Amino acid sequence: MDYDELYGRAEEKISESVDGDRFEIPDPETMQEGEKTIIKNFSKISGKLRRSEKHMMNFLRRELGVPGELDDSRAVFQGRLTDRKISEKIDQYVESFVLCPACSKADTKLVEEDKIKKMKCEACGTKQAVKQF
Ligand SMILES: [Zn+2]
Repeated sequence: MDYDELYGRAEEKISESVDGDRFEIPDPETMQEGEKTIIKNFSKISGKLRRSEKHMMNFLRRELGVPGELDDSRAVFQGRLTDRKISEKIDQYVESFVLCPACSKADTKLVEEDKIKKMKCEACGTKQAVKQF
């Protein structure tokens, strides 16, 4: 096996694993209804993130600074919010509560220990306290 072949294989392997591990957040599908902003695929997003709708809702309500409530699979917020703002906050949520700070994988879950919420990574075992609210 010459160098090129070796290198080619290694590269192939890396790009494969990057693709396989890539974590995609579904784009929020939003609509305005009067003075309300609705995320139509809210439960799909929280499902993909493997987080409870309620937890995610509490975070968004606080971060967006507007009242909001769950309505079946949708999230309904008071006020007009831009897609950009919503995506930004969802990214922030993912950063704080979904992606492992050590290995950046999304194979994590929230656990509670001594009344402190922690994110536990099932890939590398890292456990870290997350923001409480
Ligand atoms: Zn990890």
